[in-house]
Amino acid sequence: MGNCCGKESTDNKKAVDINDIKVDDKPKRKNSYTKDPTNLPSSGKSEDQETGSGGKERHIHALYDYDARTQDDLSFKKGDVLILLEQGDEENEDWWYAKHTDPSYKNQKFEGYVPRNYVAVEDTLETQEWYFGSITRKEAERNLLARGNEVGVFLIRASEACPGSIVLSIKDFDKTKGECVKHYKMRNMDDGGVYIAARRPFKSVIELVEHYKGQADGLCRALKSACPRAAPVMSDLSRETKDAWEIDRESLQLNTKLGSGQFGEVWKGKWNKTTDVAIKTLKPGTMSQQAFLAEAQIMKQCRHDKLVRLYAVCSKEEPIYIVTELLRDSLLNYLREGEGRYLKFPDMVDMAGQIASGMAYLERSKMIHRDLAARNVLIGDGDVNPIVKVADFGLSKVIEDDEYCPSSAGTKFPIKWTAPEAAMYQRFTIKSDVWSYGILLVELTTRGQVPYPGMSNREVLEQVPRGYRMPRPENCSNHMYEIILKCWDKSEEMRPTFEFLWTFFDDYFVSTEPNYQESK
Ligand code: ADP
Ligand code: MG
Repeated sequence: MGNCCGKESTDNKKAVDINDIKVDDKPKRKNSYTKDPTNLPSSGKSEDQETGSGGKERHIHALYDYDARTQDDLSFKKGDVLILLEQGDEENEDWWYAKHTDPSYKNQKFEGYVPRNYVAVEDTLETQEWYFGSITRKEAERNLLARGNEVGVFLIRASEACPGSIVLSIKDFDKTKGECVKHYKMRNMDDGGVYIAARRPFKSVIELVEHYKGQADGLCRALKSACPRAAPVMSDLSRETKDAWEIDRESLQLNTKLGSGQFGEVWKGKWNKTTDVAIKTLKPGTMSQQAFLAEAQIMKQCRHDKLVRLYAVCSKEEPIYIVTELLRDSLLNYLREGEGRYLKFPDMVDMAGQIASGMAYLERSKMIHRDLAARNVLIGDGDVNPIVKVADFGLSKVIEDDEYCPSSAGTKFPIKWTAPEAAMYQRFTIKSDVWSYGILLVELTTRGQVPYPGMSNREVLEQVPRGYRMPRPENCSNHMYEIILKCWDKSEEMRPTFEFLWTFFDDYFVSTEPNYQESK
C-alpha cells in the first residue's frame, strides 16, 4: 500500500473573496469530466490546418439531441453538422456559436449558442460515437456493464496511465468471471498509424475499429456497436446564467416535492419552462444572504462529474432557492428503501471510489465539505452501476442555527459523522471530511444504518475521543475496514488523502488482474 499520510491537511479557505480562489479543474490525475487531452485527429490530417479564423469553414458534429432553453441558444439533433462561427475563449469555453447547415431548419432558429460538451469538432475522434475521451478504466467498465448492453459493445478512451495513447474496451463474457470488460491498449506508430497487434497495423483508429467490427482477429470477440451513453450534464442552465446566476424566481416552477431536510425542502421543478432542475428552498432565517452568496460563489466554481452541479440561486428574498442538477434520490434512501438494499460488495467499492473522486477534487481545490454523509450523496441513473455524486458541500458552514452547533451537541448537528477535533474545537479541515468519509463507508456497508447503533450523540462525543471506534460491519471486508480505521485516526495527519482513497477503491479489484490484454 502506498503512503497514506496526507500532505495537504489544513483548510486554506479563509476568505470568501471569489477572486482569491482558484479551483483547479485540470487535475494531475484522471478526471473523467475533462475533455480528451489527446484530441487525436481521426484521419491522418493535421488539425492546425483547419483551426483559426482565417482558414476555411469549420464544422462541428452534434453528439446528442439538444433543445434550446432560451432565445440565445440553438436546438439540434444528434448527427447534425453545424458551421462553427465562434469558438468559446477561455472565459466562455462552455458555449460556442454555430449555424445550421441543413436547410430543413430554415423555419427555425438558424444560428445561436451550443453547449460545448454536446458537439465535437470535425475530423477529431470526438465525433465518433464510440469515442469516450478521457474517462478512467473504472468509468469505462461502469458504462459497458450497464444493463442492456450485449457482449461486443465497445468504447475507445484516452489512456490515463499512458498519456497520448488510447485503449479499446470491450464487454465480454467469460466462463469464470461472467460479464466482464477486456481492455486493449493501442500502440502509436511514427507515421500516425495505430495497432493492437503488431502484425495488423492501421492508418487510423477508425480503420482499426472497422476491421475489428468484421472479425475478432485475436481480440476476445468482434466489435458490435458503440456503448450507449447519456447526454452530459450541462455546466450551466444557459449561456446567460453562467455569469448572471442570480436568477428570477419567476423563471422557476416547483412541481414535485422530492424530500425535506433540517433546513428546508427540495423540489423537482423546471427552469424557464424548459429545463429539469432540483430546487432547494431554505427555511427563512437559516442563513444570512451575504454569507450564503459568498459560499455559493465558491460552490458555483466547482466542476466535477462526481459533484452535484450548482446552477443558480434566488437569494434576493427569502426563502433562498438553490438550483442544482437534478438526480434521482439520496444515497441514504437508496440504501434503506431502494435498489440499494440488494447492493453487492463490488458495487459498494465502486461507489466508495466515485465519492472519493469527487472529494479528491475538493481536496485539490483546497475546499472542505463539512457535512459528508450518505444523506448528502445523491444517486443518479444506471440501475446496475449507479453513479453517485456528492452534494451540499460548503453549505453547512453558513447555517445560522443554535441547534446546529457542535459544542452544544445541538439536536441538528451531525455528531456521529463529525471528527472529534471538529466537534470539540470546530477544527474543520479536509481531514475532518476524511473522518466523515469513514463513517459514510459504514453507512454504505450497513445499507444505511444509523452509525454507532444504540449510542446517543452524547455517548459518541464522550467515547470517540477516548478511542472507541465502531466495529467492522458484517458486509465490510477486512481490507476495507483497515482503511476505515485509518480515516478515523486520532491524528489528522495520519488519515489518508482523498486522492489515495480514490486510487485505493478504484483499483480495489484490479491489482490481482493483468491490466491490459494482448491481442494474439
Ligand atoms: P438531507 O441532506 O438532510 O437529506 P436535503 O434538504 O439536503 O436534506 O435533501 C432532502 C432530500 O431531497 C434528499 O434526501 C433527497 O432525497 C432529495 N434531494 C436533494 N437534492 C436533490 C437533487 N439534486 N436531486 C434529486 N433529489 C434531491
Ligand atoms: Mg442534503
